[in-house]
Amino acid sequence: MDLTSLRSHNNRTVLGLVRKGALSRADISAAVELTPQAVSKIVARLIEQGLLEETGAVRAGGRGKPRMALQLRADGAQAYGAYVDRDELRVVLLDLTGEVVSSSVVPLPALFTPDDVLEALVPLVELGERVLGLGIGIAGPLDFASGVVDPNGLPGWKGVPLRALAEERLGLPVVVDKDTNAAVLAEAWHRPMRDAAVVYAGTGLGAGLLLGGEVHRGARSGAGEFGHTTIQLDGPLCVCGRRGCVEVVHAVAGAAAPKVLGAAVANLVQLLDLDQIVLSGRKVLEAQDAYLAAMPDVDVSVTAYGADLVPVGAGLLVLGELF
Ligand SMILES: [Zn+2]
Repeated sequence: MDLTSLRSHNNRTVLGLVRKGALSRADISAAVELTPQAVSKIVARLIEQGLLEETGAVRAGGRGKPRMALQLRADGAQAYGAYVDRDELRVVLLDLTGEVVSSSVVPLPALFTPDDVLEALVPLVELGERVLGLGIGIAGPLDFASGVVDPNGLPGWKGVPLRALAEERLGLPVVVDKDTNAAVLAEAWHRPMRDAAVVYAGTGLGAGLLLGGEVHRGARSGAGEFGHTTIQLDGPLCVCGRRGCVEVVHAVAGAAAPKVLGAAVANLVQLLDLDQIVLSGRKVLEAQDAYLAAMPDVDVSVTAYGADLVPVGAGLLVLGELF
């Protein structure tokens, strides 16, 4: 499927409304500045393209002419999402509603190269008529616009044009973003969030920021390098080359790790006036209660996606272009 031809403004408007709840053509027309005729035309095209389907007649208030409710056709489009972690590659396939169709994980060798990642991706990504593309989440820093990455903690990866390499190797459109941005996108997919952070404590440590309801990437795609803010002057040496970063202090803190993260998250909440924090990453998933108990007094939860959080968000980077 060709994403460019599908993502017209009107298509996105209609698909976005239907994603939020099954609607009739009349409901859509009432919600946006489109005539009933225009809505009917757009809907007919989206049904023909296999992205929408009719679910059956609903009769508003039990009277009047029954209206045909619409919903997304789950198998109408698919997107892959991948997470290049420091020791493994995790890949999911999403349907049009963002649900996981399949999920796989393979280990990556120590000091793996970009070519090792592409090699591992090839058997996990099947090209299909309905596949829109692949989103890749990886540690920052990186440039979101160009897909060139310089990830902390991956020795030898300097200025790697990961998006271009993956597009060439796999033969489909690729989007590359920070793992933490993918994570926050996944959390915001199913519920309303405005000023929130997904704090990710896995092999690395970072935060994905949602400010005013939008993913905040910053001037150079560098926002959310929360793990590399200094919490201890002259502290231990970090993978980024500086000392005393939250990431390394947290990593060596042993039983005090939740407290270290709690103090750092309290700073983040104060700095940005956040009202929602979602905790994620394997360190947190292994000791949820201790981490929850150490957090500041805002709405704090642990992700419901488990280990699939980043790959799901990476897939949504691609799928989200339809809405
Ligand atoms: Zn650091």
